[in-house]
Amino acid sequence: MSNNAICCPQCQGQQVQLLSVIHAAGTSRIHTTHQAQSGIGPRVTVETTGRHQTDLAASVGPPPGKRLLGPVILTGVGAIILYDGLKLMNSYWGVDWSRFFIGVTFIAIGVVGFVRHWKFNVAQYDKLEEWRRTWMCHSCGTRFQPS
Ligand SMILES: [Zn+2]
Repeated sequence: MSNNAICCPQCQGQQVQLLSVIHAAGTSRIHTTHQAQSGIGPRVTVETTGRHQTDLAASVGPPPGKRLLGPVILTGVGAIILYDGLKLMNSYWGVDWSRFFIGVTFIAIGVVGFVRHWKFNVAQYDKLEEWRRTWMCHSCGTRFQPS
């Protein structure tokens, strides 16, 4: 066997690649910019951004993390509703309590969601590290981590 070249533990094949490499190779970003100017009108820039991914690339993708944007938006919306409810607070009883509670509820759900997603992502970190070290054999599909 040829010195230290990494080969498949299952079939000894050398058609092996890191999952991250396969993933990157099969995922291409499409970005085109098209400029059009019609007559006296303003210049219009049309931008198209897309992502194309092969089935193989999709199957070897990194462990998914949860997006933190959703809870942040929810918290923001809650804050706006809360602010709107408190805006009437000229007198003590001028608070719009329904908006107040809806706003507080949104913020609470948003913060709890953010913390949960954050913890999930931290837990996924080990899996991600493992994924970075994992290779796949193109001949038999075996996934392995060279020691
Ligand atoms: Zn193999």
